[in-house]
Parts: sequence; structure tokens; C-alpha cells
Amino acid sequence: MATIGFIGLGNMGGPMAANLVKAGHQVKGFDLMDAAKSKFVETGGTATGTAAEASAEVDVLVTMLPAGRHVRELYTGAGGLLETVAPKTLLIDCSTIDVATAREVAAAAAGQGLDMVDAPVSGGVGGAEAGTLTFMVGGEDQAFERARPILEAMGKTIVHAGGAGNGQAAKICNNMVLGISMIAVCEAFALAEKLGLDHQKLFDISSKASGQCWSLTTYCPVPGPVPTSPANRDYKAGFTAAMMLKDLRLAQEASREAGAATPLGKHAESLYAEFEEGGQGATDFSGIIKMLRAQG
Ligand code: NAD
Repeated sequence: MATIGFIGLGNMGGPMAANLVKAGHQVKGFDLMDAAKSKFVETGGTATGTAAEASAEVDVLVTMLPAGRHVRELYTGAGGLLETVAPKTLLIDCSTIDVATAREVAAAAAGQGLDMVDAPVSGGVGGAEAGTLTFMVGGEDQAFERARPILEAMGKTIVHAGGAGNGQAAKICNNMVLGISMIAVCEAFALAEKLGLDHQKLFDISSKASGQCWSLTTYCPVPGPVPTSPANRDYKAGFTAAMMLKDLRLAQEASREAGAATPLGKHAESLYAEFEEGGQGATDFSGIIKMLRAQG
């Protein structure tokens, strides 16, 4: 069993770190919020007073932070983790961040002779609690093989997507498809309502025809056809519209830097921005159907 440092014990990091404890690892956790640390201690982990303490003398360091600037600052800022970790520490960043920062921090780690992977997740808080997350991993083969058994304690599907930053690339490409396809499905239901076509009828037909997709068959944005979807609980998240907007913004940032044309991704970003500005950031992302209906 490994000694693991875990920094960022929030909605996702807290239950992920708890699953590492459950798997028998010795886990030292740190968060800026005392409440997050107390919750982690209740699950059997140890809390530290600083990030440096959590990352000292560990085999593996996992981070789960809000955005790229937090990751850059924590690893490469003055007195950052790259200066304080032991020489053979494996670094795993599970935060969803921009590809450029992921590659920059991985290059700085490599410069210190440290193995690092970017390993963003999908599966949400439910997946983090159940230990069923999907990890999309970017990094060298050797770093991936070292990370795999640790990630397996927190997730069910572990995919090596290529070199540094490719985990982030996979995550934002996938979520751009999701954002666009959810809007497409919402538009179809809103149009069907105007045309007098029953929700269940459209579902039965489209789910067996070429309109079939995850946003329709697993996460249907109207109540009824898929009883487990957030539409059946007044769009209580789930995956919030604010999180979807964050990922669509990351996709646009990457598109601009890479010179890729993603016009529908751009439009999806502006629609989710409008939804959030309307005070709906905490609503499930499938709730955007309410805004589209209101614009009809
Ligand atoms: P969160 O805000 O609940 O948790 C982030 C934690 O990091 C907070 O507790 C915060 O105090 C802590 N933190 C920030 N800077 C720190 C620092 N310098 N040192 C120590 N702790 C620090 O967010 P979350 O929902 O757990 O999301 C974490 C990451 O996972 C994000 O990048 C998010 O995009 C990604 N993600 C979230 C979900 C989801 O459904 N919540 C799903 C997939 C991916």
C-alpha cells in the first residue's frame, strides 16, 4: 500500500481521497477549507496544516483543484510542490484544467525528473463517491503504469489518452460533444412541443433512429422517458450548467490556441453563458431546455 498526499478535498476530491483510504492506502489530505479537512478526517484520513506537509515523504501526490491557475501556482509557484516533494514522488493532477497549463506543469515536473500525469475525470460526485469515475490520462507510459493502480481505487475506467495534456484534451473534446448534443436534443423536444408531437413518441422514435445519443437516451431533458434523468427532479444537478460552461470555455480556449474550427462549440458556450447569466448556473445543464422554450 502507498503513502499518498491529496490536495483539494472538495466535492470531488473528498470522496476520491476517502476511497483511497478505503483501499488501504495511508492518505494525508490538505484543503484551504477546514470543513473539507474535517470531513476527510471522519472518513479515516489524516489532515495536515499545509500543502507542503501533505506532499512531503509520499509515494504519490494527487491534486483535485478548481482551475488551471490553482494548479500552476501550487506546483510551480515560489516554494511550490515541485520544489518540496521527494525525488521519486508520482504526481497525479485530476483537476479539469486547460491543456496548455497541464502541459506546462508536466514539462516543469519532467525538468525535475518527476513522473506526472494529468488525469481529469468524468462521472461527477456520484461517481467519485461510488468509486466508478472514468479517468482520461495524459503522460508517459511509465507514469501511466505507476498511476493506474492508484486510479483504480477511485474509478472503474482508466484510459491512457497519450502524452502530457492529452487527458485534458480528451475531456474537453468529449464535453464539447455533450454540450452541443444536449442543446440539439433540447431544441428537438422544444420544437416537438410546438408541433404537437408527444415527448414519449419522439423519444421512442429518435432513440431507435439516427438522432440517438447519450443526451437523449441516458440524460433525457424532459421528464418521463428516462426516469433517472434530472428533468424528473426539476433539473437538480447532476452536472451543473456552470461546470458545462467551464468545460466549453476550456474547449474554446484550446480551439483558439490550436487553430481548430469549432463553431457549434462556440455557440454552445454562448448559450450556456446566457443560461448562467440568467441565474441558472447551479441548475443541471439539461435545464437549458427551459431557456430555449422561453425564447420560442
Ligand atoms: P470544489 O470547489 O468542491 O473543490 C475544490 C477544492 O479545492 C476546494 O475545497 C478548495 O478549497 C480547494 N483548493 C483550492 N485551491 C487550493 C489550494 N491551493 N490548496 C488546497 N486546496 C485548495 O470543486 P469540485 O467539484 O471538487 O471540482 C474539482 C475539479 O474537478 C474541478 O477542476 C472540476 O472542474 C472537476 N470536475 C468536477 C466535477 C463535478 O461534478 N463536481 C465533475 C468532473 C470534474
